[in-house]
Amino acid sequence: MKKDEFQKSTANLKKAVPLMMKNRVSTTPANYALWYTYVDNAIPQLTKEMDSVLEQYGICPPTVGDTLYTNYVASKSETNMNELRASIEVLVTEVAHSMNDTLADTSAFSEMIDKSLGDLSRVENEGMSIDEVMGLVRQLVSESRDIRHSTQFLNSQLNNASSEISRLKNQLVEVQKDALFDSLSSLYNRRSFDKDLQTLCETNQAMCLILLDIDHFKSFNDTYGHLFGDTVIKSIARKLQLSSRDGISAYRFGGEEFALIVPNKSLRIARQFADTSRRTIEKLSIKDRRSGKQVGNITASYGVVEFKKGESPESLIDRADKLLYEAKSLGRNRVMPI
Ligand code: GH3
Ligand code: MG
Ligand code: MG
Repeated sequence: MKKDEFQKSTANLKKAVPLMMKNRVSTTPANYALWYTYVDNAIPQLTKEMDSVLEQYGICPPTVGDTLYTNYVASKSETNMNELRASIEVLVTEVAHSMNDTLADTSAFSEMIDKSLGDLSRVENEGMSIDEVMGLVRQLVSESRDIRHSTQFLNSQLNNASSEISRLKNQLVEVQKDALFDSLSSLYNRRSFDKDLQTLCETNQAMCLILLDIDHFKSFNDTYGHLFGDTVIKSIARKLQLSSRDGISAYRFGGEEFALIVPNKSLRIARQFADTSRRTIEKLSIKDRRSGKQVGNITASYGVVEFKKGESPESLIDRADKLLYEAKSLGRNRVMPI
């Protein structure tokens, strides 16, 4: 990376991170890319839309962020999430290193000056031609002190910068620790779901919630083993991921349960989407490695609800869960309400 490019990236990153914190944006690689592009003002249309979203909601709702990312950032640069995460790490590590190098240089310089001061005092102490050199020595001492003061100042400035960088670095470590994704299904995890739903409810975002639960999943585990069960979860997750468009986000809600947040759509549309998903899962056929047999008859039951202004996340989930339970008791492999 060229030096000025590097400086610009650092400056943008420093602007983007506090903004993300302020707007309670999840620190995912996609969001880093979005907010980085936003502060960089590289795509004026994105800046305009984001500004109007921030003005309208006071924050940037996660699904809106996702849509902006998909429309402006991902399509433009085909950003690979992991690459981006890695490059942010490289960036931060590079800055941290150069800070440390500079710190080492400055400390060495400071030591050298201390030593020269010592030498100068010795000249003074040993009484060598005091009268002749005193004027000069005093001048040198005072000049050196000035240099030392400014060096100490620089040192403390660099220390501040350096600790800010470590803070950013720790933040990244935290981000990775509190992973937003579920490792088995690669979908967003429950933690992301709770956070997103909370934000969307608080901002009264029009949306529907779909909960789905795999039917008789326990019997797949019992018949073909737990690993096969895992494969079923992964296959369904992939289908949900692939069919998610228009800002729809898919989450692993729990064991064999999933959630879909459908922003800005009516109950009717969300129901249709759930039913399409149901039919896709119904067609799934997965090979059991142990017996070599193709296993079909994989189905799921769905509960779909539309968010009511002012409703709490708990109430929304509860309503969807009740409908899901109804779908189960009516015979499974169906979407409720009819
Ligand atoms: P229903 O149609 O009523 O939903 O029946 P079910 O068998 O799907 O529901 P139940 O709640 O009885 O069983 C769910 C099972 O899912 C129990 C649990 O062992 C299994 N399970 C949960 N998480 C995982 C996982 O990550 N991998 C596998 N293989 N199984 C899991
Ligand atoms: Mg269940
Ligand atoms: Mg189940």
